[in-house]
Amino acid sequence: MNIYLYWLIQLSWGLLINLAGLLIAAVLVCRGNKPKRFHHAVYFEFGEKWGGVNFGGFFFVQKNAHHRLKSHEYGHSFQNLLLGPMMPFAVNIPSAVRYHYRKYQLSKGHTLKPYDDFWCEGWATRLGEKHCK
Ligand SMILES: [Zn+2]
Repeated sequence: MNIYLYWLIQLSWGLLINLAGLLIAAVLVCRGNKPKRFHHAVYFEFGEKWGGVNFGGFFFVQKNAHHRLKSHEYGHSFQNLLLGPMMPFAVNIPSAVRYHYRKYQLSKGHTLKPYDDFWCEGWATRLGEKHCK
């Protein structure tokens, strides 16, 4: 997909989640954190061992994030292109709830199912792999 079309859809149909991403990006830039490019997306690295989160054309990952994690977060940005205003309710909120539930399960010594078993996570990984070629 062409970068202009990518950002046109991010900032129109997919605007909702990008506003949150832009706000977080602005705070990080003010704190001296440098934005980086990952294909069409803009991302920031900060913190240790927490994973990542996507807000449309923006994503945020732990320091020294592996390519696989960045590709996964990038994959979520394509879900936003498709889901637009439904994105927070279809993906972001369920994913965030699951993230914290998994941390809780881990703290109780439970074994976790593979991360990508959750429909929108497996889908994001596949989209990332597709668009990182
Ligand atoms: Zn994810």
